[in-house]
Amino acid sequence: MSVPSATDPASPIQWHDRFVRELPADPDTDNESRQVAGAAYSRADPTPVAAPRMVAWSPEAAAQVGLCDAHLKRSDWLEVLAGNRVMPGMKPYAACYGGHQFGNWAGQLGDGRAITLGELVGVDGRHFELQLKGAGPTPYSRMADGRAVLRSSVREFLCSEAMHHLGVPTTRALSLVRTGDGVMRDMLYDGRPAEEPGAIVCRTAPTFLRFGSYQIHMARSDEDTLQALVAYTVRHHFPSLLSEPDAPIDADVVHALFAEVCRRTAVMVAHWMRVGFVHGVMNTDNMSILGLTIDYGPYGWIDHYDPEWTPNLTDASRRRYRYGHQPNVAGWNLIKLAEAFFPLVGVADGLSRGLDVYRDTWYAEQQGMVAGKLGLLDYRPETDAPLWSDLLDAMQLVETDMTLLFRGLADVSSAVMAPSDRLAALRPAFYMALTPQHEAAWSAWLERYVARVAVDGRDDAERRAAMHSVNPLYVLRNWLAQEAIEQAERGDSTRVQALLDVVRDPYTERPGLEHFAGKRPEWARHKAGCSMLSCSS
Ligand code: AMP
Ligand code: MG
Repeated sequence: MSVPSATDPASPIQWHDRFVRELPADPDTDNESRQVAGAAYSRADPTPVAAPRMVAWSPEAAAQVGLCDAHLKRSDWLEVLAGNRVMPGMKPYAACYGGHQFGNWAGQLGDGRAITLGELVGVDGRHFELQLKGAGPTPYSRMADGRAVLRSSVREFLCSEAMHHLGVPTTRALSLVRTGDGVMRDMLYDGRPAEEPGAIVCRTAPTFLRFGSYQIHMARSDEDTLQALVAYTVRHHFPSLLSEPDAPIDADVVHALFAEVCRRTAVMVAHWMRVGFVHGVMNTDNMSILGLTIDYGPYGWIDHYDPEWTPNLTDASRRRYRYGHQPNVAGWNLIKLAEAFFPLVGVADGLSRGLDVYRDTWYAEQQGMVAGKLGLLDYRPETDAPLWSDLLDAMQLVETDMTLLFRGLADVSSAVMAPSDRLAALRPAFYMALTPQHEAAWSAWLERYVARVAVDGRDDAERRAAMHSVNPLYVLRNWLAQEAIEQAERGDSTRVQALLDVVRDPYTERPGLEHFAGKRPEWARHKAGCSMLSCSS
């Protein structure tokens, strides 16, 4: 895979500080937990760690911010990415934000363990923030330690890059560093805390602003800071919404901003549904204003298709953030963002038009996604809506691997194939033997599918290629990440590297990678880290 060229590693790095320079700062510079009013951020330096060691980095994420392998191999960069060195020009800070957690307003949250070092300009001229997650306490840490464990850091590092290569809007991960320090965690919240290896991910994004970044100022009736933050957001991140660069940020602009966030959020969630991703903690502080997937915590990937599934142990009883509920939750979160923007516009009509954009975009994207996953040239509601919902029903008759089912479906050819061969193409996706009734149900559905495909009249090979371009073969299955984590915890990062290579090209079947395209093994069915994850990280 080719990686775009980057800056010469010998030339000095030019750090930028737009966020720090242009937005209201916390005047207090003490690194003590506290409420921070009237500010978008607090300056906070990373706390040094004992013995940093590079575990892995992403060459593509490096290139995007103008770095290259030579930088990532240097000891001064290792020190930077571990939080042990602040380079000239960096102005590290922690952002202030609030959020609704599991439907309830939680007040001030903020970057309790994330510290943005500064901004770099990539080869395409775009600014990217470099942010260390797990770099030590900040004024937003409350009672917690500001650190992150290796297992959750491996998961964030790999999944950020996996999502990017799947074509899903996401924050990126530049590097994964072990700190050499231990971190105490009660992983399953069952009163058995243990020391785990600490780690830091350096993640990148044009901005890490979240819905909660705006909500906090509305909640505090601080319209000045809210206005300043919205103006900053539009001028730097949505400049196309302005008729000219210094046009005023009036109600029309706020409406346009909200509508665009609605549109992007719908697109993002449709991608999640396409690839079988469950975010797991869609709190409003975990919703990016850019419509990027952000804050990889107890996320998971659908193995056997079950719209009720959530990987998040903390949410196991209510399942607010289950796979099938994600489009609704995103809509709910957007309503909270609309409430945050309300003081700037005074009337609700324009914002409610944004919510219409969300709904319309979601339906359009969902229909496109259905057509794409089924290999249809276009979406015909009369036939394709029932074809799709009956497929989802069939996938729940017996445990059916979502990823493998759609890959298998691409092999079903329309005309010449015997009905039993059609079903044979799907067999690798089933977790158990089919009964005659199941076989009859699947055969009947396949009959309809083949008839529908015939209406398009598209060549089988062409349909297969199109289906393979939207239905991935290699996704970051929970148990695959867990295998890599257990090996990394023993000091061997070979599997982390191998998985990174696999997820860099998720749509192309490659010999030798059968393990990474496999169904969930039985050992992973009920194992912590695979079928259930806690927020402890
Ligand atoms: P999350 O559930 O990861 O989205 O985090 C929710 C909030 O808790 C955010 O404000 C985080 O910064 C904060 N947080 C989570 N873990 C820690 C930690 N170990 N130290 C400090 N703050 C944390
Ligand atoms: Mg978060």
